Amino acid sequence: MGVVEVSVTTLSFLGATRTVTGSKFLIETDAGHRVLVDCGLFQGFKERRLRNWAPFPVSPGSIDAILVTHAHIDHCGYIPRLVKMGFSGPIHATADTRRLAAIVLPDSGHLQEREAEYANRRGYSKHKPALPLYTRQEAVDSLEQFRDVAFDEPVGIVDGLTATFRWAGHILGSASIDVDIEGSSGRRRVVFSGDLGRSTHPLLRPADPVGPADVLLTESTYGNRAHPEQDVPEFLAKLINRTAGRGGVIVIPSFAVDRTEVVLWHLEQLVSGGAVPNLPIYVDSPMATAALEVYEEAVRRGSPEIRPELAGTELFSDLNLTAVRDVEGSKALNSRHGPMIIISASGMATGGRVLHHLASRIGDHRNLVLMVGFQVPGTRGDRLLRGEKHIKMLGRYFRVRAEIERLELSAHADRDDLVSWVGSCQPPPETVYVVHGEEEASLALAQTINDELDLMAVVPTLGEKVSLDA
Ligand SMILES: [Zn+2]
Repeated sequence: MGVVEVSVTTLSFLGATRTVTGSKFLIETDAGHRVLVDCGLFQGFKERRLRNWAPFPVSPGSIDAILVTHAHIDHCGYIPRLVKMGFSGPIHATADTRRLAAIVLPDSGHLQEREAEYANRRGYSKHKPALPLYTRQEAVDSLEQFRDVAFDEPVGIVDGLTATFRWAGHILGSASIDVDIEGSSGRRRVVFSGDLGRSTHPLLRPADPVGPADVLLTESTYGNRAHPEQDVPEFLAKLINRTAGRGGVIVIPSFAVDRTEVVLWHLEQLVSGGAVPNLPIYVDSPMATAALEVYEEAVRRGSPEIRPELAGTELFSDLNLTAVRDVEGSKALNSRHGPMIIISASGMATGGRVLHHLASRIGDHRNLVLMVGFQVPGTRGDRLLRGEKHIKMLGRYFRVRAEIERLELSAHADRDDLVSWVGSCQPPPETVYVVHGEEEASLALAQTINDELDLMAVVPTLGEKVSLDA
């Protein structure tokens, strides 16, 4: 007996399910088009990183287009890999996301080449020879497929599918995306939250409220937590003065994009108010320096993403700030004495120049290592905060004697922000899919949405496929 094939529009969860990394959501329309929303890298525990090497579930060449919510690696870092495997369509993103992706993607390729090289030299890779997922050059080449999208203007992506990017207030350029699909079962709207910012971001305007949706995907990074009422200026001033008082060095592993700007903004407030000495600050990350220029430029031209009161101003002119450009300058910092502040990527100490600073400073009790954001379980940042006394970096172990602290500077909405964002979706969606959170956080947020908003909220599993039809 023959089976009647009914074509439906579907959504597949190819990443960021019960984990905060690897965001990838594949829409397959009943007319046979494929659109991927976000194309992020898996990070953290080795078993998760290994997923980056798995074959892609559909032929990359069969995907018509990619929509990117923002320039964080866990949302765009897989793009060069997909291009390498045959994806040749357009990549739609806002102009600032494209500018920032042009900084972070080549850097990601570079890091992967370096890691492969290092593993080969030290012989600690299981693959022989170790290979990068993609190279710096492959990342640069993939940038040619980016197409700028304006906020709030619907863009035709493929026949019967339109996308509208909405301001998400998370980092410069960040968007939530409304996807309107005209299928055989009528018109349907799926809204992808991307990552949502906090309304307290000192540089960026708060996110725009979500409009109506039939299906809503929400991030849940902090789905089980309210941000503590930490008095950031007071706590930061205390840490700086204490460390400076013992002649120590403050090493801040920082996410290169956005977090560095927020850290500098707080430092500038403290310095201008006389709460801390105007210590030398070294931003030692080519990526952070390049991203800083994109932020400074957006502030100068008064971009609508920036808080209106900052428009047209010059950021960080009061700080004793040095951007370290080359490797020699970076190495020279090792022989400098404190007190001083070194801000360097990566934010979870998974790679980058900050490893060399940690290697040279972490064994001295006078120094302070200050983590400034969410730490994916299994990363070095997470291990340090859990109090591990020996930490492996660059192929060997180091003893941890420096003070380790955490400053709550998350760029993510917390549980209450997320619930009110979902609640602002009117009329309410039929289904809310809770993604982009560790399992506990996603399950807790789904429960809260069920209880407090009386909506059906589900936490999908990796590879799960659902119908988007009515
Ligand atoms: Zn993000």
